[in-house]
Amino acid sequence: MSDYSLLINFVYVLSATLFIFGLKLLSHPLTARKGNLLSATAMLIAVIVTLLDKHIISFEVIAASVVVGSFIGVIAAKKVEMTSMPELVSLFNGIGGLASLAVAYAMFVGKEPLSTFNLIVSFLALFIGAITFSGSIVAWAKLSERIVGRPIVFKGQVTTNILLLAAIIAVGTLIVTQPNVSTWHYVAIALSLIIGIMLVIPIGGADMPVVISLLNSYSGLAACAAGFAIENNLLIVAGALVGASGIILTNIMCKAMNRSLVNVLTSGFQAVVSSDMKIEGEIKPLTPEDAFYVLEASQSVLVIPGYGMAVAQAQHTMKELQELLEHNGAEVVYAIHPVAGRMPGHMNVLLAEADVSYEQLYEMDEVNPRIENFDVAIVIGANDVVNPAAREMAGSPIYGMPVINADLAKNVFVLKRGMATGFAGVDNPLFFKDNCRMIFGDAKETLGNLVRQFAD
Ligand code: NDP
Repeated sequence: MSDYSLLINFVYVLSATLFIFGLKLLSHPLTARKGNLLSATAMLIAVIVTLLDKHIISFEVIAASVVVGSFIGVIAAKKVEMTSMPELVSLFNGIGGLASLAVAYAMFVGKEPLSTFNLIVSFLALFIGAITFSGSIVAWAKLSERIVGRPIVFKGQVTTNILLLAAIIAVGTLIVTQPNVSTWHYVAIALSLIIGIMLVIPIGGADMPVVISLLNSYSGLAACAAGFAIENNLLIVAGALVGASGIILTNIMCKAMNRSLVNVLTSGFQAVVSSDMKIEGEIKPLTPEDAFYVLEASQSVLVIPGYGMAVAQAQHTMKELQELLEHNGAEVVYAIHPVAGRMPGHMNVLLAEADVSYEQLYEMDEVNPRIENFDVAIVIGANDVVNPAAREMAGSPIYGMPVINADLAKNVFVLKRGMATGFAGVDNPLFFKDNCRMIFGDAKETLGNLVRQFAD
C-alpha cells in the first residue's frame, strides 16, 4: 500500500471513529449537540477526502458544492418548525436513498466491467436506495398531509406485493447474469420505486414514527451496499452504523407501541373505535382560576407533555410554572412517553430548550409504578400517550400500547383546546374519568394564566 493510500485510509478510520463517538454522545440530551457537531465534522472530512482521493471533481466544484449544500442544509434546519421535524428527517432519508441509487446507477453505466460481487452489491444499493427514496417521499407526503395520512389498503394488496417482490428478484438475477443488457437497470429502478410506495401506503396513524425510523435504517443499508460497490471502507462503516442504529430505534419504538415490526408493516393501523365501546362519564371543564387553588395545595405535580405542547410552544411557560410550584414547596417531575410528540425525543428537545433539568425527566416505566402518589398530573397537549383505552378497552386500535397511566394520579388536569382526538384518531376515556378536569384553551395561554395567578 502506498503512503498516499495509507494516509487516505487513516483519515477514513479517523472519520469512522468520530462517527462512533458522535453516536455515543447523541444518546444523551446533555451531550447530543456535541455529538451532532462531531458527526457532521466527520462527514465533512469524509466527503472532502473522498472527492480529492478519487479525483472526481475539481477543487472549485468541491468548494462550491460544500457552500451550496451547507447553505440549503442550514436554511432547511433553521426554518423547520419543531412540529415538522419528522417530515424533514423523512426528506433527508429519501435523499440518502437517492444518493445510493445514483452511485449504483453510475456503477452500472460505467465503462469498467463489474465482477459478480460488484453486480450484486450495486443491485442491492439500487434496490434499497430506490425503496428508501420513494418510501420516504410517501412518508413525507403523509406526515405533511399532502396526501391522506390514514393507511391505504386495497383488495389484493398482499398478492400485488408478492408479485412485485418476485419480479424484482427475477430482474436482480438478470442484472447479475446479463450485465450488458441495460434495460434491466431501468426496470429494476422502476420496480423498486413502486415497492417503496407499496411499503409505506398501508401504514398510517400512530405507526408512522416506526416507518420513519425504519427508512432511516434502510438509507444506511443502501449506503453500506454502495460502499461495497465502490470499495469505500468509510461508506461501508457509516452505512452500517446508520443501518444498525435505525433498526435499534425501530425496535425500541415497536416495543413502546406494543407492536411487532411485521404487524406494523402489514396490518394497517385501524383508527376506529368499534361501536360497542361506549365511554362512560361526563366531561368536567375547569377554569384556570379554580385549577390554581388545587395546584397551590399540591405537594407533588407530574407534568405529561405531548404533541400539543409543541404546537402551543408552551414549554417555556411550563418551566415558569414549574419554578413557581417548586417555590411553593411542591415536587415537580416530567413523564416522557417514548412516542410523545411527532418524533423520538421530541419532548426532551423542547424541555431542554426551556432549560428544564434533565434530572427531572422520567421515562414512562419509572413514573407509572408511583403515579398514584402524585396530587396532580398536568397533561399538556398529550392525548394518545395517556389514553387508558390502551389498558382497558380490548378491541381499541391502541389496546396494548404502553401508556402513561395519568388517570391513576389523584387529580388530572388536561390542557387542550377542544375534544379533538390525537394522532391515532381514537377517543380518550381519560377525559371522562371522575378525577379528570378539562382546562380548555391553548396550552400556552392556560399555563400563562396559571403563572399569573401564582405570581399575584
Ligand atoms: P396526540 O397527537 O395524541 O394529541 C395531541 C393533542 O394536542 C391533541 O389531542 C390536540 O387536541 C392537542 N393540542 C393541539 N394543539 C394544542 C394547543 N395549541 N394547545 C393545547 N393542546 C393542543 O399527542 P401525543 O403526544 O399524546 O401522542 C403522539 C402521537 O403521535 C402518538 O399516537 C404517536 O404514536 C404519534 N406519533 C409519534 C411520533 C414520535 O416519534 N413521537 C411521530 C409520529 C406520530 P385539541 O386539538 O383538542 O387541542
